[in-house]
Amino acid sequence: MENRLQQRPDPVLQNEPFAMQNARVTDAFWREKMRLVRNTVLPHQWKLLNDAVPGAAKSYCIHNFRAAAKATARRKNGQEAAPHYTDRGFEVLPDEPDAPLPDRFYGFVFQDSDLYKWLEAVAYALADEPNEALEAQADAAIDLVCQAQQADGYLDTYYILNGLDGAFTNLKDHHELYCFGHLAEAAVAYAQVTGKTKLLEATCRWADLLDARFSDSPDGCQGYPGHPEAELALFRLFAATGCARYRDLALRFLNRRGQRPYYFDKERGCTPAAPEEPRYIYYQAHLPVREQHEAVGHAVRAMYLYSGMADAARLTGDETLLGACRVLFEDVTARKMYVTGGVGSTADGEAFTFAYDLPNDTAYAETCAAAGLVFFARRMLQIEPRAAYADVMERVLYNGLLSGMSADGKRFFYVNPLEVDPAACTGDPRKRHVHPVRQAWFGCACCPPNLARMIGSVGQYAWTKTQDTLFVHLHIGGEVLLQTRSGKSHVLMESEFPWEGNFSVRFPDGCSDVFTLAVRIPAWCAGQYTVEGAENAKWWVRDGYLYLQKAWSVQDALQFNFAMHPQFVRSDARVRENIGKVALARGPLVYCMEEADNGEALHLCTLDTAAGVDVSWETLLPHTRVPVLTASGFRICSPEAAPPLYAPAVPPKRENARYRFIPYYLWANRTAGEMQVWTRAEGNTGFAGEKKC
Ligand SMILES: [Zn+2]
Repeated sequence: MENRLQQRPDPVLQNEPFAMQNARVTDAFWREKMRLVRNTVLPHQWKLLNDAVPGAAKSYCIHNFRAAAKATARRKNGQEAAPHYTDRGFEVLPDEPDAPLPDRFYGFVFQDSDLYKWLEAVAYALADEPNEALEAQADAAIDLVCQAQQADGYLDTYYILNGLDGAFTNLKDHHELYCFGHLAEAAVAYAQVTGKTKLLEATCRWADLLDARFSDSPDGCQGYPGHPEAELALFRLFAATGCARYRDLALRFLNRRGQRPYYFDKERGCTPAAPEEPRYIYYQAHLPVREQHEAVGHAVRAMYLYSGMADAARLTGDETLLGACRVLFEDVTARKMYVTGGVGSTADGEAFTFAYDLPNDTAYAETCAAAGLVFFARRMLQIEPRAAYADVMERVLYNGLLSGMSADGKRFFYVNPLEVDPAACTGDPRKRHVHPVRQAWFGCACCPPNLARMIGSVGQYAWTKTQDTLFVHLHIGGEVLLQTRSGKSHVLMESEFPWEGNFSVRFPDGCSDVFTLAVRIPAWCAGQYTVEGAENAKWWVRDGYLYLQKAWSVQDALQFNFAMHPQFVRSDARVRENIGKVALARGPLVYCMEEADNGEALHLCTLDTAAGVDVSWETLLPHTRVPVLTASGFRICSPEAAPPLYAPAVPPKRENARYRFIPYYLWANRTAGEMQVWTRAEGNTGFAGEKKC
């Protein structure tokens, strides 16, 4: 077959991330995370996918592929016919967890995607550092996936094992197209990094079948994914292969979404009592995508859909679609995003609620939704490089995303709350989704491998390039190879982020062509930054980026410093949970208080925001030395040893106190205990629109 991978400079694919081989992360902070992913997370997850970790929730993921591969082989040999479809539910578990029947599917309907996300993360790890053993493991897994594939290209173990006549009959709630998307992302990444195209070829056969099945012809299925992911993956497959049919299939999925009559009504065979009422909000299928102006429903689905919409807007130049993307990004980040970058305010449907509803202790803020917001922001940056998008991306990455993984890479959060009382996690049914410590694994294990692939590909979010401009969205240390008109030129970046605001750029090859370096000015530095070495460059500031233009020489050395002072942060007054409270941040990091440092009953702590905040480097955990913040305030004390529940109000007794804050992403790495991001405060807690009396 022809080489599916194409190297083609496509004029519409401007402002792209660098090819993996042309961008290397050398940053101390991120390299440590990448090392953790390579040495700990990926081997650990491989064991988990194989159900080989005692005490952890069973995955059955590899079990399902093995069972499907054997079934496919038997069918090819004519030894058995495929069974008639039996709906076995959204999640099916064996009677005995350790004794699954060898020919049965177990787990969630989307269990296949866990392996695909792991494979994608492996690809990024291999791009960073060759590893024969890991590559051999991935090759074996790919062989298994390909053995499970049907002769016509179909590839979803749930239906292969439960009955192929049921395939595509429940697009709303089953995840064939979602799993396809993760397969496609893994296949593209693996082929681009290793040059091995076996998985990509299998993916293209599967995509070809989907293209035919979901055609616009009268006998084509007019459906679209219940859980978006295929869309952005098809655009990625198109970019890698140049096959326009994949792009067009993604556009069909997007254009059909939310059209009346609803496809999901037809699929379910139901006639709604109130046909005009918007439904399928949870799926973001309530309205056509160009008419969606409010972030609603399941937060991960929303982020993946909006990412696909942004890809479509970029590739087609559709201004209406771009307008919807802009409005949705604004709605998410100006009204529905936690200060940590988490999204999804309620466990009920893992979903958005309403504007400014950001409860700290019942937050959902799923790790996958955080990853999805990073996908969305990077795609918007590709369309229009505005620092507002990259500010969000940075906020999510350093806070609500990294919090999903323990410092040792072995335990994970699915839910990332901003306030925890361990007693409430077990005692309050509304908080049962909140865990005070990270878990070894989840039956629904979407988050850990998503984190692994995000960390491994952080360079894809840090830098993008056009023909004559290198954009630095994240101040990450690294080395990129830039193609200019007359040749290739390395650009070296060194960084002390997120701990200090120093960032430097050098040009070891020099470059005879004029090109532009566009460096984001982070919003948190409030315009306090210095640049040395740019005296001879033409410069301008646009949309939060400092553009520096010249023919850079070997002698050029740029040194940026962005002021990284501790800052008390307030919420918009409409966030009722945070009235009278502040969060503490420094640079891109949001900080939190833990019981381990401040004792129990954190709700009694009050900060004095007029007092200064001390910064001191401390070894918080083994191998983890970080700036710890110390602030002054008061602690409310009970006037009596055994106070009544209610009593006549008198001014509370309080004593002076000092409070220690650690980076939020590192919480729950010591002992289980209380944690809070937002703390009661006295002093300057003013909010927008505050009246001066
Ligand atoms: Zn997840």
